[in-house]
This record gives sequence, structure tokens and C-alpha cells, in this order.
Amino acid sequence: CGIVGYCGPKKVVPVILEGLRRLEYRGYDSAGLVYLQDGKIVKHRANGKLSCLEDVVGDDLVAPSHLGLGHTRWATHGAPTMENAHPHSDCTGELVLVHNGIIENYHSLREELRAKGHVFTSETDTEVLAHLIEEYLEQDAHGVDVLVRAIKEALARVEGSYALGVMWAKAPETLIAVRNQSPLVLGIGEEKGMFLASDTPALLPYTRKVIFLDDMEIAVLTADDYQIASLVSGEPVDKEITFIDWS
Ligand code: GLU
Repeated sequence: CGIVGYCGPKKVVPVILEGLRRLEYRGYDSAGLVYLQDGKIVKHRANGKLSCLEDVVGDDLVAPSHLGLGHTRWATHGAPTMENAHPHSDCTGELVLVHNGIIENYHSLREELRAKGHVFTSETDTEVLAHLIEEYLEQDAHGVDVLVRAIKEALARVEGSYALGVMWAKAPETLIAVRNQSPLVLGIGEEKGMFLASDTPALLPYTRKVIFLDDMEIAVLTADDYQIASLVSGEPVDKEITFIDWS
């Protein structure tokens, strides 16, 4: 239901929690976050209120991490439990994502992936996305180009609506944002730093410069740069920057 992502000079966990708090008005049943620290994925999830997630996060609030994603979930597939809360991961645990929307063909994809040996740890439609992307990641490869290619190939097989935030331990400087029929907005930090969110209130404490993604667009974010392209053709898209001036 709510998505927040950040990469940049600030410590990421407080940015995510503050962003999620500003999206609370949309409602949710569970919450979670993930960040990268020293090349390792650290994930925290909790059923219930954001305060429950904060309890689980504890001292990791000040973790020296500068790249991460958060999510508040409004369950559509699978009960509101900790196991079903986002972020969801692939089998390696190195590919992690948050998702708003509904994957219509998740059932057949999940059966196909199970037959290939993927083990699922939740009842959500979302988790198939992580395993499907994993299926298209070249073995022993790394880097943002590999990740983007895998995401494109995976999403070409997906029917449904999605706003996605994706990160991969093997592309440690990068966040990916993708949108199809579920809103997603990028924020350009005042100095350095890039944000993503499902709605602008999450970004307002940090920036007024935003870019609204359109359907079937993919954005590659690093601390000081962003690129937006068509998910289908791969062609770069020139996007308008919007200045939000309401207080
Ligand atoms: N369909 C996903 C789930 O049930 C995402 C729900 C949402 O948009 O929060 O986990």
C-alpha cells in the first residue's frame, strides 16, 4: 500500500520510517523495511502498526546504511502476518523488493517456479516477482545492467498492477523503481540523494522536486543520478520535473 525508498548520504532507516509514517493515512496491516549494510541485506518486518516495526528495528535505526526500501502492506493475497509482510526476497536473499498492486497470474508463475526448485516463504502474490527476477539473473553475474535486464524479462511475463522498488546486493549502489497501474513518484534530493515513494507526502520532508513515473516506465536510481526508460523498448524517456509548492 505504501512504498518508500532512498539512496544517498543520509542514514536510510529514519528516512524510510518517516516516509512510511507519512503514508499511514492510506491504511495498512503490516510493515517492513530492508537496507544494505557492508554488502549485506538486513530485513525487518512486523505485523501491525509502524510502532511494532520500530520495536523490531531497535538500535538498527542508526545503522550506517545509505540504501534501502520500506513498505506498508494492505493485504490482498495472504493473511496479514509477519511472513507475508514485504519486503520479499528470492532464494538467495540477495534480491529484495516491495510491491503495491496485484499480480493476476501469480498462481501459474508460482507453480512454474516451484517446479524449478524455488521455495516460497509467504502466501503473497508479490513473492513470485522476487523469484521470477532471480530466474532471469545470470549466474555469478553482478551489476545494474544484469539486474535491469532480469527485471524486464521477468515483468514481460507478469499480468497485473505493480509499483515496485527493487534492490540487489550485487548492484549495491542502485535502487530500481517500476510502475504499471499503481502510482510511483521519484524525489530528487536537495543536494545528493534520490527517493522513491508511492505518494508525495513521503517525500515532502526531504524535497519538493519530484518526477511522476508513468505506466511501463523503469527508473534506475543512485545517490547522485537517475535514468528513466521504457520498460518495453528500453529507450530513455525524458521526464518533466514537478515542483511541489504546497506546505
Ligand atoms: N498484493 C500484495 C500483497 O498482498 C501487495 C499489497 C499492497 O499493495 O500493499 O502483499
